[in-house]
Amino acid sequence: MKKYNVIIAGAGLAGLSLAKELAGSGLSVLVIDRKKSAGEVRYYSSGTFMNVDESGIPGEFLHAIDKAVFCSKNISCTKNISGCYVIDRVKLYNWMESAALKDENIKIRYGCEVKSAGYRHGRITGISYLDHGRQVEAIADIYVDCTGTAAVLGRKAGLTPKKSVMALGVEHLVPLKDDLRTVFLYTGGNLGGGYGWVFPNSRQQAITGVGLIKPKLFHKINEIFAEMWNKRNISGICKHRSIAKNFAALRTGRPLGRFVKGNIMILGDSAHQASPLLGEGIRFILDASTEAAASIKQAFLSGDLKRIHTYGRAWRKKHYKNFKFLYFIQKIMKVVSMNDFIMDKGVRVLRCCNERQYRRVLSGDIDFGFLLFIAVDAWYQIKILKNRI
Ligand SMILES: Cc1cc2nc3c(=O)[nH]c(=O)nc-3n(C[C@H](O)[C@H](O)[C@H](O)COP(=O)(O)OP(=O)(O)OC[C@H]3O[C@@H](n4cnc5c(N)ncnc54)[C@H](O)[C@@H]3O)c2cc1C
Repeated sequence: MKKYNVIIAGAGLAGLSLAKELAGSGLSVLVIDRKKSAGEVRYYSSGTFMNVDESGIPGEFLHAIDKAVFCSKNISCTKNISGCYVIDRVKLYNWMESAALKDENIKIRYGCEVKSAGYRHGRITGISYLDHGRQVEAIADIYVDCTGTAAVLGRKAGLTPKKSVMALGVEHLVPLKDDLRTVFLYTGGNLGGGYGWVFPNSRQQAITGVGLIKPKLFHKINEIFAEMWNKRNISGICKHRSIAKNFAALRTGRPLGRFVKGNIMILGDSAHQASPLLGEGIRFILDASTEAAASIKQAFLSGDLKRIHTYGRAWRKKHYKNFKFLYFIQKIMKVVSMNDFIMDKGVRVLRCCNERQYRRVLSGDIDFGFLLFIAVDAWYQIKILKNRI
């Protein structure tokens, strides 16, 4: 049986970014994933408002966006936007993998599926995984669950709720008619209370998709996606021909306050670290992996493995309050987003926003006071100044 300092289950965004952050630490790390390679992504959608200078992600993986169009059924709002990108997921994952593999103490094994884990007194005692059909046992000082919606270790330890809110997305990669730096976002009753998106990429293609959070509509997702072709602008910008089609789920819902128990850490979708309202996960998960790596290194350096508990403190400080508010809005949106009259009113408010406020709404960087302010300001502009917005 092989022993490691750290075993990371899952080599998606969370697992690979954590492995990259641990490179050079001198720790022996095993990363296992059931997929065949780093670049085998389940879907391509990857719009983000992350601070790319801080992230260090090479510019050639980023397609900069300069305009965002937000549409309800009858109204649309178009404004310039800054600091928004569509990332090439495949290139990002491959880049993170090669950065991790520069450290010979880090091993990444694909085609390996975690099948079971021993669990006693709040600690994982070892895992068993299938390596191309061969059963292998491994143990580690610390186990990190980066298996996304599966949350194989997080659920076992009771860190990831058994019943998270699940969101389901379908996306189609379609050819773009022109080179485009505009993202389109759609809401409306005929999108089943979910939302649609069109993200252009640098290969003259667009990722068009729909995300739903009402489980009773999941079986209708293809029909609901078909509604996207009736939406304004779409047929003008993309060709109605699917190059690739992907389905994917996301664990969302109530933000978690605890990411560590015993020798187990959860990171990424298994820790509900994607925005509860918008599903944007890349920015927050990269941030979480930096915090997680720092706590792991500190724990080994000090010889006190309990120090991994410091992971999450900084992340919670930065994002917990915002996620809690977005979760509250998510619950409201589940009810009101089917109502086109209310959604049209919402877009009218967006039209009254300046570019900075518009960016704040789209990136989810909002709180109650801010929403109240832009609503009152819009009312003032429309009723008092009689602007025809
Ligand atoms: C449809 C959709 C669109 C999205 N769009 C955006 C967007 O535009 N912008 C954005 O920022 N975020 C977006 N997100 C969210 C973001 O992509 C996710 O939050 C993020 O990718 C999650 O990363 P992760 O590593 O936690 O999980 P995953 O990427 O799901 O990785 C989990 C890995 O674990 C592996 N695994 C699972 N079970 C096992 C097992 N038993 N044994 C071994 N390996 C296992 C899987 O093969 C997978 O590679 C979107 C999500 C969805 C579903």
